[in-house]
Amino acid sequence: MSVIYLDNNATTQVSEEVLDAMLPYFREFYGNPSSMHSFGGQVGQKIRTAREQVATLLGAMPEEIIFTSCGTESDNTAIRSALTIHPDKKHIITSRVEHPAIHVLCAQLVTQGYRITELSVDKNGLLDMDNLEKNLTPDTAIVSLMWGNNETGVIFPVEKAAQMTRERGILFHTDAVQSVGKIPVNMKNNVIDMLSISGHKLHAPKGIGILYVRRGTKYSPFLIGGHQEKGRRGGTENTPSIIGMGMACELAGKNMQKENTEVKRLRDKLEKELLARIPQSRVNGDTANRLPNTTNISFEYVEGEAILLLMNELGICASSGSACTSGSLQPSHVLRAMGVPFTMAHGSIRFSLSIYNTEKEIDFVIEKMPEIIERLREMSPFWNASQSSGAGN
Ligand code: PLP
Repeated sequence: MSVIYLDNNATTQVSEEVLDAMLPYFREFYGNPSSMHSFGGQVGQKIRTAREQVATLLGAMPEEIIFTSCGTESDNTAIRSALTIHPDKKHIITSRVEHPAIHVLCAQLVTQGYRITELSVDKNGLLDMDNLEKNLTPDTAIVSLMWGNNETGVIFPVEKAAQMTRERGILFHTDAVQSVGKIPVNMKNNVIDMLSISGHKLHAPKGIGILYVRRGTKYSPFLIGGHQEKGRRGGTENTPSIIGMGMACELAGKNMQKENTEVKRLRDKLEKELLARIPQSRVNGDTANRLPNTTNISFEYVEGEAILLLMNELGICASSGSACTSGSLQPSHVLRAMGVPFTMAHGSIRFSLSIYNTEKEIDFVIEKMPEIIERLREMSPFWNASQSSGAGN
């Protein structure tokens, strides 16, 4: 059975061009870029090229790019760096809808004496910028707000937020793991101090990330040891993945137009048709400020997990908005923060597309989803009760 992969916010397929660029660095050019001999040294040259490719995509300078192992490491490093630079400051501002890479770290920092303000979002997942302003204090070490939400695709006005924090001399970090490669990100147009990227969200392999650190920003490394990355991140370079990341960024720049026209068109078609064909379904998140590839749709009175199982039988891959933790199905913290009603949050599915999806695939999903939801609703006592009480009208 062939797979229809609509789970690109979870991870993406490695592009052929990326894989081709990487393979020689496993087979032939396996030298250590720090070695004195030219066999290793030639690899160092390729890392420089990759750094330039990343910098070009971001409108950054090559020396502002630090290669890390993943988005999580970049996020952790940014926050910890700010706290080390400002040992006297004990306050961090973030939002209620951040990825666990920020959220869980902040929860741990609370136990170490830090005060965390998690900004709330409205029912569309949008931030109240006045609320951000109100919470900035001289004790604030860093503000970290994600650029695009992984579950709903909602975009935060991070460039505006960075301007606000800059005026008060407070560091600003953004988790741009879901945004880079999907929407234009140009560091020349903003004052963001630090930005995280993850390779596997933009058709590079898993296990490679980037932390952008603006020139002149005070920075303290998280991983210390060797002098790699000019002492800003110790550890022998993951050469093949760095080279793959460079190629992925070059391709992302070339494909940006397609991402914002073709991918968006397919996403919009999928969303429009599902809403039209399936009663009591709705989109979660602001549709005007959204990544072009993502839609999060709730189908009332059905369990997301059950929907995924039936989709899986047809080879359709997506994600649900609830996580099965310790036997109880908890709706995602993102949907809870948005106040999505319980019966809706449980039946939410995230579809996330990529440039590799086709019209034929989307048409197949449009055809099959109404049958899946209807089948599950027929088995749902809550749905049947809502229908006989007229609540569904
Ligand atoms: N931040 C966001 C918004 C994400 O979606 C993810 C991955 O799902 C991460 C951070 C973590 O990235 P990585 O898997 O590379 O650690």
